[in-house]
Amino acid sequence: MRFNYRIVFIITTLVFTLSTTLTVINYLTSMESTREQLKTSALPLTIDNIYTEIQKNIIEPNLIASMMAHDTFLIDWLSNEEDDVQQIVRYLETIQNKYQMFTAFLVSDQSLNYYSANGMLDKVETNNPNSLWYFDFQKSSELSEINIDYNANMGTELIMFINHKILDSEYHIIGATGIGLKTSYINDMLKVFRQRYQFSVYFVDVNGKVVIAEQNVQQLQQLSDIPELASQLSDIIGKGSQVFEYTLAGEAYLLNRKYIAELDLYLIVEAKVNNFTQTAKETFYFNIIVSAIITLLISFIIVLYVRRIHLKLDKLASNDELTGLPNRRCFHEKLTEFLLLKERNNNNLSLLFIDIDNFKYVNDTKGHDVGDKVLMALAVILNNNVRKSDFVARWGGEEFIILLIDSDINQTQIIAEKLRSQVANSNHLAQFTQQAITISLGATSVTDTDNIDTILKRADDALYKAKSQGKNCIVLD
Ligand code: GH3
Ligand code: MG
Ligand code: MG
Repeated sequence: MRFNYRIVFIITTLVFTLSTTLTVINYLTSMESTREQLKTSALPLTIDNIYTEIQKNIIEPNLIASMMAHDTFLIDWLSNEEDDVQQIVRYLETIQNKYQMFTAFLVSDQSLNYYSANGMLDKVETNNPNSLWYFDFQKSSELSEINIDYNANMGTELIMFINHKILDSEYHIIGATGIGLKTSYINDMLKVFRQRYQFSVYFVDVNGKVVIAEQNVQQLQQLSDIPELASQLSDIIGKGSQVFEYTLAGEAYLLNRKYIAELDLYLIVEAKVNNFTQTAKETFYFNIIVSAIITLLISFIIVLYVRRIHLKLDKLASNDELTGLPNRRCFHEKLTEFLLLKERNNNNLSLLFIDIDNFKYVNDTKGHDVGDKVLMALAVILNNNVRKSDFVARWGGEEFIILLIDSDINQTQIIAEKLRSQVANSNHLAQFTQQAITISLGATSVTDTDNIDTILKRADDALYKAKSQGKNCIVLD
């Protein structure tokens, strides 16, 4: 019987397909949940955190600027023709130092002078782009505003200006005052969110132009530079809470935004999805490897197990259960094999047919169990008294057959006689029945013209003759 590897292959494929399918489903689910988590939790939370942080940083400066705008000293000074510049410089200097602001300033509507702690710096002029903020503010209906802007006199860093209008007793604008803050804390904050949470954070104006971004990092100038965002721009520059998705250079991104009324800017938080699915991917590869190993192990165990069962079945099919000797089917195969070998090598081959004498009597008087023990003990005696290369089998019932290799008829007779006397004189056998057990033997030598049937027929006939001649003897044919 051949061991069938196909069943192992099928089981292995099934187990691997099953475990891989489960791993893939697991992977897709965790990818989806990562995206969902980003959309519904991480991105909105980041937005809220940054918003709170900015608000926290604006409240105090806003109060100071408001206090300055209502300060009677400033109002009086502006109304009194701005005669002592040193007085106002000292005032601005005190505010700037006391509250540790980057700058404190005052613009007079009458003289259009721009004062700071360093003195009269400049004049605001309609044709100077740096001054436009003042004229826009003057025209606006709001009493205060926050501008994030550069100031040509203050280096290259972005400054957050908190501007408040100064009104006289008739509510006419007589100037503007306020303070300027360095926005480096915003830069630091953006850096933290990028490094710690892998979020890209920046601010855009109502046209989608990037106004504040982490220095030396953000490449994007304008939201509409990304085609997929250009088409969604009208929605991004809008209200409400929504997450936008886009792809850039094969990478998927999620984008969330919030309108910050205080700054009149949109806070944008972006996440590259791949950065967050890395763990899921690693787990996926790990699981695939583990399932492959487990599948291999299972296949290995199945192979071992099936082989064992196979060997057992094989043994059962070719061996007699009671004596453990090969059965008649197996003997036929062996005889066929040896006949072919004999054809090639022309060696001697002989056959012994053995039958226990009066075995029915043993069964009838001592019982079937004792009969079985005799059969088992006889099998051992037969096996022990022939060469290892010879072949002993149970023919059926109380009949045995032995194939003697390289034995001519004379040697066969010697072996047969040896077997007969060993059995007849065996105390071991006799102890089961309290009397001697004997066997009759028919022997024959295989000739060149023989086939299985003729050989068996001759041996059987010889045995029959032995029985007729009084049993416990050998007949050669
Ligand atoms: P003879 O000397 O002519 O061979 O007589 P016999 O009694 O040995 O021959 P017979 O064929 O009449 O009886 C054979 C008996 O062997 C009959 C059967 O019950 C018994 N037998 C066959 N197989 C087994 C077996 O596996 N176990 C036992 N205990 N008895 C068996
Ligand atoms: Mg018989
Ligand atoms: Mg018999």
